[in-house]
Amino acid sequence: MKYYSTKSTNKFTSASESAILGLPPDNGLYMPETIPHLSSDFFSNIKKMSLSEKAFHILAPYFEPDFTKEEIKKIVEETFNFEIPLVKITDRVFSLELYHGPTLAFKDVGARFLARCLNAISKNEKQKLTVLVATSGDTGSAVAHGFYGLDHVDVIILYPDGRVSDLQERQMTCLGKNITALKVKGSFDDCQNMVKKAFLDNELRSQISLTSANSINIARFLPQSVYYYHAISQLENEGKEGKVAISVPSGNYGNMTAGLFAKLTGLKIDQFIASSNANKIFPDYLNSGIYSPKPSVKTLSNAMDVGDPSNFQRLERLFNLYPELKSTITGFSFSDNETMKCIDKTYKDTGYILDPHGAVGLLGLETFLEKNQDYTGVFLETAHPVKFNETVEKVLDKTLEIPEQLQDVLDRDKKFIPLDNDYEAFRTFLMER
Ligand SMILES: *Cc1c(COP(=O)(O)O)cnc(C)c1O
Repeated sequence: MKYYSTKSTNKFTSASESAILGLPPDNGLYMPETIPHLSSDFFSNIKKMSLSEKAFHILAPYFEPDFTKEEIKKIVEETFNFEIPLVKITDRVFSLELYHGPTLAFKDVGARFLARCLNAISKNEKQKLTVLVATSGDTGSAVAHGFYGLDHVDVIILYPDGRVSDLQERQMTCLGKNITALKVKGSFDDCQNMVKKAFLDNELRSQISLTSANSINIARFLPQSVYYYHAISQLENEGKEGKVAISVPSGNYGNMTAGLFAKLTGLKIDQFIASSNANKIFPDYLNSGIYSPKPSVKTLSNAMDVGDPSNFQRLERLFNLYPELKSTITGFSFSDNETMKCIDKTYKDTGYILDPHGAVGLLGLETFLEKNQDYTGVFLETAHPVKFNETVEKVLDKTLEIPEQLQDVLDRDKKFIPLDNDYEAFRTFLMER
């Protein structure tokens, strides 16, 4: 497969170059040249396949020939090594639990896949790759765990001293091996500025192969389409064969874009629901046709506090190529108050515990299902409720059980290197490692 930039549709790069660069130099986003066609054999056998077998068939067309079949097989087996169960909430509503990975959020899928792609690429190079990430919390932990233990990639995380939660800091700093955490005396923006300077520092880059792990990398967002197939096949196993709606709690719209790709390969999803919090730029666009980015506002579902979703460029391109797609998405927005009520009511009615992001997803789904009685619905539950225990425990007035992945982190020590907010100090650190 070849990739082009949304901003220059006549130049092509390979899958491995797109994964290493992350973003095209013209600031567009990489798009695959075509949408792979999956055979009817694949769709009739899918119910019998394991998650990683499905992933292999879905992803191989995007990553061959840069990666061999054997490499892709190994990458998907190591990426999809945790369960993604579809849990029945009511007769018409199912939760796709994406949070059983090492950092308890769906971002584990993309981070693990990207990490293994970069590791496979750098095996053929003389030098190790160094991934630089600035984080305000969650990205750092998903990237750290995704890359942990790989032999050809080092990760350096910069995080602001005193501005990440204790749990987030532990998740980033407890690993060691090829993961180094720098605790910066400054803000998240200071961390990000140092990383940006390093990428512009040609002398530094001639000595160290630097790369980023940003969320719009093709090797982070394409693997997310796999769980849509997994959801539909589990739904069929439940005997549900009618119309299906999937609600995606969205921020940067990577998850939504991955779902639309799945639909375009022939997967039977009849309706998508873009569920957002008060940051409702995309639902507004669907209603008015006008895209007007705004500064983000803070909400309880904070991973979706995005005022200018970066994947909009990809969605726009898809809508140009496949105008019929637009009519398969409905958008809704919900307040924090509605989100808390939904967490409370769902627990009282069914015993199911939602996190604030999943609650927004369920609200969107319920709104759609009410008017469309012939549909069965799935919402993506994107994070474990314990990651947002401050909100969830307050609403439910109960203490949540700590899953074993987290207990493991809590039992380990933090290891970090303090760093001044000073580019020269950061540069010296990188050169002298
Ligand atoms: C990142 C994130 C989202 C939003 O996903 P996008 O692909 O950016 O739309 C939703 N929920 C959680 C928990 C997240 O971490």
